[in-house]
Amino acid sequence: MTLKIVCRACDTVHPQDTRFWRCGCGGPLDVGFRCTIDAGKIGRRAPGMWRYREALPIGADAHVVSFNEGFTPIVGMQIDGKPLNVKQENLFPTGSFKDRGASVLISRAAELGVERVVEDSSGNAGAAVAAYAAKAGIDCEIYVPESTSPGKLAQISLYGAKLIRVPGSREATARAAMAAAEHHFYASHVWNPFFFQGTKTYAFEIWEQLGFNAPDALIVPTGHGTMLIGAFLGFRDLQENGLIDRLPRMIAVQAANCAPLYRMWRDQLAEPPLSSSGNTIAEGIAIAEPTRASQILDIIRETGGRIVAVTDAEIKEALLDICKQGLYAEPTSATAIAAFRKVPASGDECIVAPLTGHGLKSTEKMLKLNGE
Ligand SMILES: *Cc1c(COP(=O)(O)O)cnc(C)c1O
Ligand SMILES: [Zn+2]
Repeated sequence: MTLKIVCRACDTVHPQDTRFWRCGCGGPLDVGFRCTIDAGKIGRRAPGMWRYREALPIGADAHVVSFNEGFTPIVGMQIDGKPLNVKQENLFPTGSFKDRGASVLISRAAELGVERVVEDSSGNAGAAVAAYAAKAGIDCEIYVPESTSPGKLAQISLYGAKLIRVPGSREATARAAMAAAEHHFYASHVWNPFFFQGTKTYAFEIWEQLGFNAPDALIVPTGHGTMLIGAFLGFRDLQENGLIDRLPRMIAVQAANCAPLYRMWRDQLAEPPLSSSGNTIAEGIAIAEPTRASQILDIIRETGGRIVAVTDAEIKEALLDICKQGLYAEPTSATAIAAFRKVPASGDECIVAPLTGHGLKSTEKMLKLNGE
């Protein structure tokens, strides 16, 4: 398999087997290759994200690290009397969609013969990387902010990863991991382009589950954009393979208390504004300095989408509503439902929103929401 690893900022082409996580110029990397999707072939394979094998940039099957995850069910819901397709990404092995990215990223690490990885995360990406590293027999160090939910911390350390809790902001945690990445492979869900090659399977599954059609719009909780960028890449692959004729509108959701992308969109800024960080119950998307901000804004514009900000009160209300309908997701996931309520929808459009993470990860936060 021929890969082209290119810097997004300066177009430098890096060696195929590079272990660097960013370009010498500081820019993030992309990976390009000939990606094929054969609807006849995939239909005969087991329902999971690796059924799109020819669209995933890993050479030998022997290097694939997988729990046969994916093909999460879509359930039709009514929100304020309007139809919404909810894709249950909370039903992954580690309880969030980050398993999609971790499966491909750790497969890549295995392919390169990496022995130790480091990663930083607000919790879910760390849990996913720790689980897949455990499966691959790769040593793992995860840096998390001190405020991370105890359920996620337990998960990371029980998978056998070394857990490092960093005081201060999410950005302080990222800086600590980058320092460790001077010596070890940086399995970053933000910087490493292979992670996005995994999250793009979200798009393939939606297309297949909707009878080989693209929806009109996707609502995506967004901090660093791992699902948003992945979904875009996946639908673009489908379009390039002649399987859909237009891309769905991408609607990114941010928490109003930490909304740098929303402010860039609203105020037409070229960079994330300083001082975006604030406390929010949507811990999974509380990212004050999104690394791929310009890429995310390009996607919003190219697909005719928009960015919506939702308040903690709106998130809480949406969460309690979906729980009353039998769904259990962590607070961050409810941002998608809260945003759906705010976007004008005619009722005959096909809109898909994910439950990005499981409610069981955040029991103490869930209890607090319920006033206990
Ligand atoms: C990672 C994550 C998201 C999306 O965050 P990005 O920073 O945009 O990748 C949304 N919800 C949950 C629960 C997450 O863990
Ligand atoms: Zn560069």
